[in-house]
Amino acid sequence: MKTTKLILLALMASPVTLSLISVSLSAKNIYVAPTGNDKATGTIDAPLATLPAAYKKVVSGDTVYFRGGTYKVTDEQVMKQESLYAYVFAIEKAGTAKKRTCFMGYPGERPVFDFSALQLDGAHRFAGFYLGANYLHLRNFDIVGLPVRIKGHTQSECVSARKGSYCIVENIAMHDNMAIGYYQTTGSNNLIVNCDAYNNYDDYSEGTYGGNVDGFGCHVGKTTETGNVFRNCRAWRNSDDGFDLINCAAPVEFDHCWAFYNGYRPTSDPKNTTTFQSAGDGNGFKAGGWGMGSGTTKCPAVCPSHHVHHCVAYRNKSNGIYANHHLGGNLWEQNTSAMNQRDNYNMVNRKTTSEAVDVPGYNHKLTGNVSWSPKKEHLSNCDAATSTLTNNSFGPNVITVADSHFVSTDPSHLFAPRDTEGNLPDLDFLVAKRGSALANSGMGWLWMEDEDTGVAAPVVKPDGAARIYDLKGHKVSRARKGLYIINGKLTILR
Ligand code: CA
Ligand code: CA
Repeated sequence: MKTTKLILLALMASPVTLSLISVSLSAKNIYVAPTGNDKATGTIDAPLATLPAAYKKVVSGDTVYFRGGTYKVTDEQVMKQESLYAYVFAIEKAGTAKKRTCFMGYPGERPVFDFSALQLDGAHRFAGFYLGANYLHLRNFDIVGLPVRIKGHTQSECVSARKGSYCIVENIAMHDNMAIGYYQTTGSNNLIVNCDAYNNYDDYSEGTYGGNVDGFGCHVGKTTETGNVFRNCRAWRNSDDGFDLINCAAPVEFDHCWAFYNGYRPTSDPKNTTTFQSAGDGNGFKAGGWGMGSGTTKCPAVCPSHHVHHCVAYRNKSNGIYANHHLGGNLWEQNTSAMNQRDNYNMVNRKTTSEAVDVPGYNHKLTGNVSWSPKKEHLSNCDAATSTLTNNSFGPNVITVADSHFVSTDPSHLFAPRDTEGNLPDLDFLVAKRGSALANSGMGWLWMEDEDTGVAAPVVKPDGAARIYDLKGHKVSRARKGLYIINGKLTILR
């Protein structure tokens, strides 16, 4: 009798609270496995087989977990076609600031999405994972084999961020595709962290030049699309550039990113450091610009100032760190650029939005940067009158950098495997040796103390374990007699 009264009281007193609780509790886990079945229920013991089947069950804030193994993606799985694009996995169910909608490799396992079988009609660009909503989170899987099936000017994109803000793309490896790794055209405050893009080369369209395949690109069109950050990401052996910000209207941050061996075709050994077959542009960090076409560019009235810091550009085909005919100055801090096959730092700017003339880069700020052994210049095309150079190895107090300045000059360190959380081991490649002139001057890239990627590891709740909450929504570890919400359902414990 007492219990019945409690139910009535609870239902009468706070229907709003109850419904809010049931919404927040409705976030669930859905499981997918290579051995699964799309007619299954999607629990950990009865997993589905494909992402599109799981997606049908997803509501805002849910998490889809992929068990380890390879997922062969077929034409039948393509979720959306819109004009030129085939959005293979079109993810359009937004999460919230408190609970993102998540698509994740199961902790400790590493799923691989193999898109190589995709064909369609030969007239579509492919977007592997389309981010079409706010507050999404991709984590812990590989994307391979994404094709290009169009002969003319075209591209495909592994992660295609075209309609989302506040998304996290974390610990995703995009490799051995014909596609760009991460490609963003709209959205603000996205975090791309602990991701790798390598061995990506389009050998099909435009005469096998591979001139569109960058590792990472951000090209937002609005000045308000700020707050996009790339952190601890690596790009190598992409046939065009490592990181590219052409046509990007809002400032972007590159923090602790590595760009090496870009501008070349892939090799069968992804750790090859000796074979170089030329492909596309091959800049490590291409920060800005709107091209050098005649006529007026789309550069906004206030040109964005990108921030590139604690990054390493190593032996790219062209410039290591490059302003790309930008229409304003960028902030370049504590980077190390070495062995690039043109200039280690090339600050060239376009004269004005209407005058397609290269001029020495104006209004750049360079602080704490190191240049070692470029093929051509340490620093080129930098206007000393308007740019600020402080404490760089190339000026104003020049240090002649030698390999003896560094803890390690062995580039195999750059390929260090990530741990299961996506973190890299402490790298000492091109880190200034203690006591060296570089270290004494505080120049060059470093790990920060207690470096934080800004992303908390998710907690997996197996479906078997009961989740018990009291009527105020507080989690209860051990319930006594009374009224509780257990696994989302109002339940009486007698
Ligand atoms: Ca290009
Ligand atoms: Ca490019």
